Amino acid sequence: TTQTLTDMMDASVARFGASVALDFFGATTTYDSLGEQICRVANGLRKLGVHKGDRVALVLPNCPQHVVAFYAVLRLGAIVVEHNPLYTDRELRHQFEDHGARVAIVWDKVYDTVRAFPKDMGVSDVVTIDLTRAMPLSKRLLLKLPIAKARTSRDALTSGPQKGAIEWSSLTGARKLRSTHPRPALTDTAVLQYTSGTTGTPKGAILSHYNLRANAAQGSAWVVGLRPGGETVYAVLPMFHAYGLTLCLTFAMSMGARLVLFPKFDVDLVLDAAKHTPPTFLPAVPPIYDKLVTAAAARKVSLRGTRFAISGAMNLPVSIVARWEDATGGLLVEGYGMTEASPIAAGNPIGPSRRPGTVGVPFPSTDIRVVDPANPTTLRGFNEEGELLIRGPQVFSGYWDRPSETAQVLLPGGWLRTGDIARVSDDGFITIVDRMKELIVTGGFNVSPSEVEEALLSHPDVADAAAVGLASKTGGEDVVAVVVMTAGAKLDVDLLRDYCRTRLSAYKIPKRIVEVDDLPRSLIGKVLRREVRNRLQGN
Ligand code: ATP
Ligand code: MG
Repeated sequence: TTQTLTDMMDASVARFGASVALDFFGATTTYDSLGEQICRVANGLRKLGVHKGDRVALVLPNCPQHVVAFYAVLRLGAIVVEHNPLYTDRELRHQFEDHGARVAIVWDKVYDTVRAFPKDMGVSDVVTIDLTRAMPLSKRLLLKLPIAKARTSRDALTSGPQKGAIEWSSLTGARKLRSTHPRPALTDTAVLQYTSGTTGTPKGAILSHYNLRANAAQGSAWVVGLRPGGETVYAVLPMFHAYGLTLCLTFAMSMGARLVLFPKFDVDLVLDAAKHTPPTFLPAVPPIYDKLVTAAAARKVSLRGTRFAISGAMNLPVSIVARWEDATGGLLVEGYGMTEASPIAAGNPIGPSRRPGTVGVPFPSTDIRVVDPANPTTLRGFNEEGELLIRGPQVFSGYWDRPSETAQVLLPGGWLRTGDIARVSDDGFITIVDRMKELIVTGGFNVSPSEVEEALLSHPDVADAAAVGLASKTGGEDVVAVVVMTAGAKLDVDLLRDYCRTRLSAYKIPKRIVEVDDLPRSLIGKVLRREVRNRLQGN
């Protein structure tokens, strides 16, 4: 690909002008209008002094302004830094300290938090977006969004403009940018995208126009059968996360799709929307597919016509695939990726040769290797477990301001260490086993937490399970599991351990099994084993 994200958007505006680009609770924006708004806001940002290479922070849920702001920042050659608007004040402050953006565009609920950052952090201009204005029918929804307590010293929903805030509506300049204004170059940084923070503090991955555009192009080559200008993409995944950013935003924009924006995943909202504008392409995560199928059956809403569903971020249980495909008549295929790879590195073929239980084959132009984690130049054979390395145009150039962490994951020759244990079949299908950091080391053996979890989950009374290693009195770690029981079932630890004996070798059987009400999950739905461990240690 030789296009930047900006070139790509301009091409879509030229080609799909009159078609709907964005749909927010039924309020639509055409590609023409989107193109114009991007220019106006880019001019507005220039007046605030945003230049090439500057970081501009976005702290926004999915909404039309998010899309406009994203491409306006890029048009100036500046760098978008995405944030989770539901992060606590402390988490947001850490990220702002890390990237040092001077201009922020935020959901008004977060304004007080950002304004309260110490002066020396240098956040000088904060643009606020009042989402209720654009959300006539859904004030209810906004009020339902969980908001950190410390943040609501003022209720932005009822008060007038906030002191010192620059209102989004005032950020409009001329409808054309001067043609002399420099455009971004292919290798310029487009986005600083923080990792999910599943295993530690989120790290800012530097993604260039080239990286992100390449991944959108690889995605188009992957999902064969998409019709340019003819798809309806549902953004139920947050666009501030690498997965939603590429699979919803840049992918949809590159193929001239109608992008239906949901500020938060909510089963009823999605099913209501599906009644009049059903999705044809729905990227999501397993818990979302699970909830949608169950609720659609209960509410008798048809999901037929959802031709493609793409699952990633965590392993996809085969049972969900069957239920989803039965309900929609379409395909649900699993892919694999990480923020550092913009994010997708592999996917199942779209069609009968897909292989549930695997994450498919490497993306076009992507190389993979499975190596000895202790010595990444030593290759493993087919079907042998080892650390997965990937290389391709979507692989990032490093973490923002973290040279030593960058050096740990980027090897000579452009190979990225994924930190994931995988095996590859002799016909190229990849199975993700576990994260290296989450392997449990007990009595000199490695135990894969997912193997223990699978054994527990196969018991009919167990609804959910997570296994972790806790420091053992005798050195090393003990396997400890937490389980969520199905309604009405009672945990009998001895019986459950006996049951495990039929499926696991002795050293893999959890020493302790503790019942919990639910598992801690990240915003995108990944089980936070780190948090499970903390809670157990707190006991
Ligand atoms: P952090 O790097 O901050 O600890 P994170 O790794 O969860 O957080 P992401 O970049 O969002 O941040 O997630 C990438 C990881 O998600 C991969 O390294 C892998 O462990 C996991 N993952 C992605 N897709 C799949 C999949 N299909 N099956 C199993 N695991 C997956
Ligand atoms: Mg990671």
